[in-house]
Amino acid sequence: MLPISDVLFLSAGFFLGLSFQGGMWFFLIPFALVALVFGWLNRPRFPVPPQSTRGTAKNDATAVGMILRKAVPPITKPQLRTTFEREAAEFNEPTSKMKIDQLWTTVESELDASLRFGLQALKSLLPNAHSVLLFFEGKAPGTLVLRQFISDEPDSVTPHVHISENSSLINSLMRAEVSRILEGDLHGGKALCYYNGNPQIRSLAGVPVFNRNQAKQGVLVVDSLTPNAFDNSVVTALTALSKTLYMLCFKSYASAKNYMEQQQFSILYNNQRNFFQNMTVKDIYKQIFEYVKSYIPYDRLMILAVENAAEGRGRVVWCDGVDHDEMLHHEFTLSDKGVVILSLIRNYPIERNFSGNPNDYLLRINEKEKKNAHLRYLFAMPVATEPGAESADITICLESYQPSRFSNHEKDLLKAIAGVAGFAFDRARQFEAGRDLAAKDGLTGLINHRTMHERLRTEKLRADRQKIGIGILMMDIDHFKKVNDTYGHSAGDEVIKGIARTISQEVRGEIDIVARYGGEEFVVALVDVSPEGLKETAERIRRAVEAKPFDIHRAEPLAVTVSIGSFLVKPEFRDMKQAIHFADKALYKAKAEGRNRVVEYIGYDGEKETTASEF
Ligand code: GH3
Ligand code: MG
Ligand code: MG
Repeated sequence: MLPISDVLFLSAGFFLGLSFQGGMWFFLIPFALVALVFGWLNRPRFPVPPQSTRGTAKNDATAVGMILRKAVPPITKPQLRTTFEREAAEFNEPTSKMKIDQLWTTVESELDASLRFGLQALKSLLPNAHSVLLFFEGKAPGTLVLRQFISDEPDSVTPHVHISENSSLINSLMRAEVSRILEGDLHGGKALCYYNGNPQIRSLAGVPVFNRNQAKQGVLVVDSLTPNAFDNSVVTALTALSKTLYMLCFKSYASAKNYMEQQQFSILYNNQRNFFQNMTVKDIYKQIFEYVKSYIPYDRLMILAVENAAEGRGRVVWCDGVDHDEMLHHEFTLSDKGVVILSLIRNYPIERNFSGNPNDYLLRINEKEKKNAHLRYLFAMPVATEPGAESADITICLESYQPSRFSNHEKDLLKAIAGVAGFAFDRARQFEAGRDLAAKDGLTGLINHRTMHERLRTEKLRADRQKIGIGILMMDIDHFKKVNDTYGHSAGDEVIKGIARTISQEVRGEIDIVARYGGEEFVVALVDVSPEGLKETAERIRRAVEAKPFDIHRAEPLAVTVSIGSFLVKPEFRDMKQAIHFADKALYKAKAEGRNRVVEYIGYDGEKETTASEF
């Protein structure tokens, strides 16, 4: 039977043939195309041969190279990936730094296994060899650390031994002018005792391990108990193997590192929603801190934010690590001279290393900061709400005791965090501004009429549960029209602002509620107040306003007064709108009686309201 794809191909040909006849047949072209596509999709397929795992190096024709390519399984991504996927569930947590450390350990041990394969292959090629050893350069230049070895007497070799002696025969390979060692008549002792306690060793051959920039990264050494065991061909074999071993290490580290870096970015992007779930600006600071802490090592983190853009003032809004108590809430202005301020006003990342000498101390923020000369490195990454903005609103400043602390990857990661945070910050700020716009009065910052009624409703419910009273004060500035008429509307605004401030200072900030109720009218709700307390507070506010004349146009200080009507809402009194109405009536009476005074509404006796004129 014909395979279905052939049938489809044949019908496509048939349709095409017909459509070339001209006339109305052209409408068959789409059918021909559909048949072609389906034919292609249904084409018979053969199993793909498994991919060859043989390396592609061309010139490495030595036997060592051949054996290595067979013997050493490359550290493959799939192997790493399985490890990572097993950890995937926890890895999605932002605090997975520990996981990353564990993964490095896995990579290290896989690499160790592969290096042992390689050294074993070399040793089996050299029947005289007693040990084959691979050293990497230690932290100090010229020093060597034993990374891996194969030996007939493994117990005589100290694993991970660190050889710092410059005089050692092996260390001489790290010197620029030495490109090989070939010794055939050693008599034990000094040259070898650094790594091997066996004094019987007579021959030694070694070559440096070069990196891709032809800089020495370590040495590959083979020793023997037989005199003159090695010749030039062994040195050539060592040279070829050293290249392969270097590439093996390089590739496995590089691929593991790439993988982890990808992971960090993907965690950040997968968790972007964390930034956007948070609504307030403060939440955004906290989120920045949590991300940075999870992925980037620092000794001090500070988040600086411009809180008053018009006046160019800001604060350290978050601080973790060195001197955090002293630096948190540290205030600055945009004209301060510190380097971190520069990153804010220029919207530019700044990186600096410091000498550690207190006399060369470079200001981070301003003169008032706690100066710590032990911190040797600073990286400040600005967070701007729009890309390419001229200045930034926030900057993330990281410092370290270690010079040049951050890798390019860490800087990129910080940049990515700053990018996401910038958008989220903008949104949070708009959200807060919108919330304030609806709830607050722009001139005084007090809550407005509508919010006052909402707050009164909830306060009343709470007061009822606790069976406590709420005192209402309604106040109005006396002869305010005159202020406007004499000094102008903006002077009037200043008076309104000043009186709002005075009222707020005279009540309990966290408990009592102050609202700008109308143009030059204010309402104060005093929670849990006695009749005497209400009267006293009202009097206190009146006196405080009277005692603070306004300095307008440097003329005579302008004395302003307020009239206040008060009403005490007892638990059994239900209607808060009515309560405000009563306070308003008392205010009306205070005006009628000559202003600059407090009048209490006393017409309510629990059953009926008497009119204002009756009291
Ligand atoms: P009284 O002692 O009877 O209260 O006299 P008054 O002149 O204060 O009279 P009233 O309370 O009726 O005055 C309200 C004036 O307040 C009218 C209006 O021009 C002014 N006003 C209201 N809102 C504002 C404001 O936001 N800014 C300024 N500058 N003036 C305002
Ligand atoms: Mg008024
Ligand atoms: Mg008035």
